[in-house]
Amino acid sequence: MSTVHPPQTAVEALLADGTTVEIRPLGPQDHRAVLDLHTDGMSEESRRMRFFGASRNAPTQAADRLCGPERPGLLALGAWAGGELIGEADCELLDDPPATAELALAVADRWHHRGVATLLLEHLLHAARAADIRFFEADTLFGNRAVHQVFAGLGLPVQHHVEQGEVRVRVPLDESDERYRTAVDERGRRADVASLAALLRPASVAVIGVSRREGTVGRTVLGKIRQGGFTGAVWAVNPHGGEIDGEPAYPSVGALPAVPDLAVLAVPSAAVGEVAEECGRAGVRALAVLTSGLGREDARRLMRACRRYSMRVVGPNSLGLAQTDPAVRLDAEFGGAFARPGTAGVAVQSGGVGIALLERLAWLGVGVSSFVSLGDKYDVSGNDLLQWWEADGRTDLALLHLESFGSPRAFARTARRVTRTIPVLTVDAGRSTAGRRGAASHTAAAATPTVAREALFRQAGITAARSIDELVEAAALLHAQPLPAPRGAVAVVSNAGGIGVLAADACAEAGLMVPELPEHLAELLPAGASVRNPVDTTAAVHPIELAHFLRALEREPDIDAILVCLAPTALRTGRDQDPLHALLEGPARRRVPVAAVLLDQQVPVRYLGCADGGVLPVYSDTAAAARALGHARDRARWLAEPFSEPAAAPDCDRRTARALVERFLTAHPEGGWLDPVSTTELLESYGLPLTTTVWARDEHTAVAAAAGLRRLGYEGKVALKAYWPGQVHKSVAGAVRTGLATDADVRTAYREFTRRFGPELAGAVVQPMATPGVELLAGVVQDRVFGPLVVLGLGGTATEVLADRVARLAPLSERDLTTMVAELRSAPLLFGQYGGPAVDLAAVRSVLARLSRLAEDFPELVEADLNPVILRADGAACVDARVRLEPRPSFDPYLRRLRRPSAAEGT
Ligand code: ADP
Ligand code: MG
Repeated sequence: MSTVHPPQTAVEALLADGTTVEIRPLGPQDHRAVLDLHTDGMSEESRRMRFFGASRNAPTQAADRLCGPERPGLLALGAWAGGELIGEADCELLDDPPATAELALAVADRWHHRGVATLLLEHLLHAARAADIRFFEADTLFGNRAVHQVFAGLGLPVQHHVEQGEVRVRVPLDESDERYRTAVDERGRRADVASLAALLRPASVAVIGVSRREGTVGRTVLGKIRQGGFTGAVWAVNPHGGEIDGEPAYPSVGALPAVPDLAVLAVPSAAVGEVAEECGRAGVRALAVLTSGLGREDARRLMRACRRYSMRVVGPNSLGLAQTDPAVRLDAEFGGAFARPGTAGVAVQSGGVGIALLERLAWLGVGVSSFVSLGDKYDVSGNDLLQWWEADGRTDLALLHLESFGSPRAFARTARRVTRTIPVLTVDAGRSTAGRRGAASHTAAAATPTVAREALFRQAGITAARSIDELVEAAALLHAQPLPAPRGAVAVVSNAGGIGVLAADACAEAGLMVPELPEHLAELLPAGASVRNPVDTTAAVHPIELAHFLRALEREPDIDAILVCLAPTALRTGRDQDPLHALLEGPARRRVPVAAVLLDQQVPVRYLGCADGGVLPVYSDTAAAARALGHARDRARWLAEPFSEPAAAPDCDRRTARALVERFLTAHPEGGWLDPVSTTELLESYGLPLTTTVWARDEHTAVAAAAGLRRLGYEGKVALKAYWPGQVHKSVAGAVRTGLATDADVRTAYREFTRRFGPELAGAVVQPMATPGVELLAGVVQDRVFGPLVVLGLGGTATEVLADRVARLAPLSERDLTTMVAELRSAPLLFGQYGGPAVDLAAVRSVLARLSRLAEDFPELVEADLNPVILRADGAACVDARVRLEPRPSFDPYLRRLRRPSAAEGT
């Protein structure tokens, strides 16, 4: 029986009701706890279900098995709450059938129906997969409904075999199964929302660290909570007790009349850890830490207390939070104005950005459902808020400002789901990061942090604005107007020709179409008007004429949006003469979205109320209005893209690949580039189309190999490439000779290599010449935070100069494969629109899907660069590949666990 390695560290995760539990491998030190779990923790009946009888020795035997001398085939995990073992899941490899482990579960009676078993199973399954276990099997009693429900709810195709009152259950372990992931997501969402309730809908709040001095943080927040009309109880804590604002202040959390759901901490940084601990002991369920400047030890104590006592925490360095639901009305932040009630969810990392955003929304008259200043994001992150808003029944617009991502892949998965129902907008911060020029591969050069972030937003359907203003401008349109059709054809209407032309240009820049309009529409406008898009109504247009015209435009099937730009003119004065009147007297909501531009408007964007009670977004700048329409069109396109299955990569030989990776990393513990032959072997194990590559360590072998390969080559020719460890771009160094037709050619080429590279030359590889086609670059790099980023681009030696590339985060979906190819500027070349034949698109898709899978399966594969992949009408061939491996632990971003902030890490 082979040895399996348990996961090394403890993690924390949420139960269905939002309670935090710790999950870690069981060891000899847990013998007592396991025994207690199976005796005091379980009733006679539970033990009968677990052990199929009431043997008195069963609990001791279980404890001996799980915590006795090490058993090589055993994986055992325990779930702990407040220091008590509340559940256990283990599996032990069987001799037969292969790759199968016998599963056992036990949960303390008191903790039943809270998702303990399911959570443990998810983690055990993950550990088992890492040990190449592919099935769990378990014998259960027919009447054990609880355990059958756990299996049925997992999301995996469980098989049952019934025999004499017993059910043998067999579970195939496939974490990448989309149904399984969806089921895990759903459990994660419910647990997350439950855990956030104390934070975002508390029934009582304590502000800890309220100074008697006015203008201090604690004092200000307390004042705002009271003035804001919080519907629950609110208490002040000040170590000196006494009275503040005519209300009693309590010396500590423990001295309060009742335990608050939420504690807002405005204490000095050195006190944060201790106060958090006190709150936890008292039974507080959530913390908002406004204090900044925590040292490492304070940070650690804070997080230890939060996890141990099951408290979610916002901050530190947070401005606070606000919940405008009339049933709660909590304004616990020191931002400035009160957050007005409404439907926009707002979460920001930087407090300053939060204030700016809230101010702009207030101008616009858009209210907030909940506002959270995330600060240093030790725990609660944008991901949590997205799930909260998805479920709160009040939020229809999500605005996020994130400077960093804790787990971008988990965030992307959540966002992809949430953006289906509500628009999610963000400011793309930190675009200016310089690219990684001079990187050792083309793929690495292409994969900048900006590229990774853009890929995330693109794949998750997030609207990414370049500034706070652009964010608010886009939000104004998305919030008040219908979405355009995905095509994005805009009619631009103005009463001053020049402005219309500018607006049409701005539309084109925002990727919108400005199609020609039918001539007959001109009849509705004054003489001299032009209906070639942009429409020039002339300054003489009467509001009634304009209103008719807009109604006619709205009915045009070829128009998806209307942009009306009005310049003030001296021709028409008085309200009913003003062309703006035409807009305001009409409906705000038409078949297509309408945005207006008033050139004399002072603020960047505001709403004007219309006759139907709706509002029209009015901009001061044509470009801003066009950009907003562009974002709306992008969202419409995203919604039109159906949910897509993960990209298929059948027949990947994980075992062979793993053996190769392990062999290499054992020989090179620091990691490094694979030699050409191992590269080919690794990539071929995942079905990547590598051209036959034969290693030759001297001239004689090269000539012999070439003789064998020549008949495989295009026009009977071969390529010869010099190799030495550490080489970078070969052709630049003169290390590539192509089109060699005879033995003599090969011999001459090899001799030239020997002359040129001297003793450095380790040998050469020989390949048949590939049939010519379009040369592409395909590759993948592992970002430490974002995970694998798959890159596709125009390849060959000019790839860097042309920089025609697209990137997506793995795992790719079938849809990603399609859009990646289509978004290349040189896509028409591939589709055969420039005289050449269309290339084999299925082959490109397969290359991308396999690279994605390989990088997902092997975090050690930090860089793979296939350049070129030569695409023809009938297939693909990669003639040059480079792969770099590094020792890296695997990390599954989808495993349910709470984050570990780096600021609070270490011992
Ligand atoms: P490098 O990228 O390190 O300079 P390559 O092996 O990619 O070296 O070779 C450079 C170019 O030579 C490729 O882009 C391709 O155009 C051509 N080439 C190399 N090997 C072959 C081959 N086996 N068949 C056809 N063309 C080849
Ligand atoms: Mg190359």
